[in-house]
Amino acid sequence: MQPDITVLGAGVNGTSTALALTLLGYNTQIVADQFAYEEQHRDPRFSSAYGAGAILPYSVGMDSLDETFEESQTVFRLLEELSVLGVRKNDHYWIDEEGRGPSNAPKYLDGFRKVESPNALPRRTGSEHVTDFTAEMLFADMPTYMEGLYRLYQAAGGSIRKRTVTRTDLTEMPGLLINCTGLRSPELFEDSAPYHAARGHLVTAQRAPIPKLDGTMISYSYSVAGDRKGVYCFPRMDGIVMGGTHQSVPYRPDEKPCFPPLNEPTTKIGGTEVPKRIVELNAELLAQLGVDVERSDLEVSIGYRPLRDPEGDGVRVELAEESCGPVVHNYGHGGAGISVSWGCAISVARLVREAIGDREVPPAPVSRPAPLLPLYRTLTKHICE
Ligand SMILES: Cc1cc2nc3c(=O)[nH]c(=O)nc-3n(C[C@H](O)[C@H](O)[C@H](O)COP(=O)(O)OP(=O)(O)OC[C@H]3O[C@@H](n4cnc5c(N)ncnc54)[C@H](O)[C@@H]3O)c2cc1C
Repeated sequence: MQPDITVLGAGVNGTSTALALTLLGYNTQIVADQFAYEEQHRDPRFSSAYGAGAILPYSVGMDSLDETFEESQTVFRLLEELSVLGVRKNDHYWIDEEGRGPSNAPKYLDGFRKVESPNALPRRTGSEHVTDFTAEMLFADMPTYMEGLYRLYQAAGGSIRKRTVTRTDLTEMPGLLINCTGLRSPELFEDSAPYHAARGHLVTAQRAPIPKLDGTMISYSYSVAGDRKGVYCFPRMDGIVMGGTHQSVPYRPDEKPCFPPLNEPTTKIGGTEVPKRIVELNAELLAQLGVDVERSDLEVSIGYRPLRDPEGDGVRVELAEESCGPVVHNYGHGGAGISVSWGCAISVARLVREAIGDREVPPAPVSRPAPLLPLYRTLTKHICE
């Protein structure tokens, strides 16, 4: 059967969108040239292969960010309650040498608060007057999450095709097109809005033990006084993920992004240059939580966040008439593409219903793998009611 819908892109946005549409009764296919389960992917433009997995909007522009994130968080909460796809929650700490705390968390996370009696939270040597904040935060353990999403999508009836798509191929693609091609969208579609590649360095301490406070797993972000250049540390099944860089340069599809040199002390891991603070400051902080990362295998990865017009329209989720026909765009999610993925998938599904009409919502998928039924109920409630 010919698909009603072709989703271009197999990152977190393409796959969540395709899964939502399949559960709504559309016959969908995903077409992409890179998949997160492929070990050999090392293209920094394939952002979902690098996402650290915190469910909290960061470095993104979007008019409807609050509603979109709230809808997204509802789905992530459901996945956490069901203990599926590597979605979990833990106490996250913002440890701040200037006492300001994060700008996004108080707005988006229930129970965000100042820690009144700091106990064993780690400190940088020489730091003074440090203030701690905390809230429970959701995380998607990305390698596990992406693999699980593909599995669920196929179990729901979706199909996957691997190929590179060019502008001339677009007219041959069956059904309504959904553009989830992330940073590479300008290869296929015109867009006059500014587009940036925002580079981030991640250092993974493979198989490192989990950082704990009073016996419970924690994660943290640490802000240094003065330059505010901080670091973060998120535990994951494959080790501990450490990061803290954001270098943004204009992106054009026909040129390699040209990043300025890192303007700070660096170190090399496996021949790749990373800011020293990601390794050294984290090692100092983690040692106070009983974790010796320097004894782990350290691995570096560098990916680009697809940052569209953060001061203007931001993420593009809209139905547009392109030369190849109608296309629903869903790209440019910056540093929040995982966090807003379900909210954007819900918005796309509403636009699809507008563009090709409501499909009779299929009966609840009772015989399908466990998370599909509650996922179907939550998504249909948000999209159809
Ligand atoms: C270091 C780093 C840390 C991050 N941390 C977080 C975080 O903690 N929380 C968070 O919410 N977000 C985070 N992000 C951002 C997040 O990873 C991205 O916003 C998100 O992955 C974008 O997903 P996407 O599906 O839109 O695009 P992508 O993941 O880039 O997927 C694009 C897809 O399109 C396909 N494609 C593109 N062009 C073509 C073509 N011409 N033909 C065929 N296929 C094509 C690609 O093969 C790929 O499958 C982070 C990003 C980085 C780099």
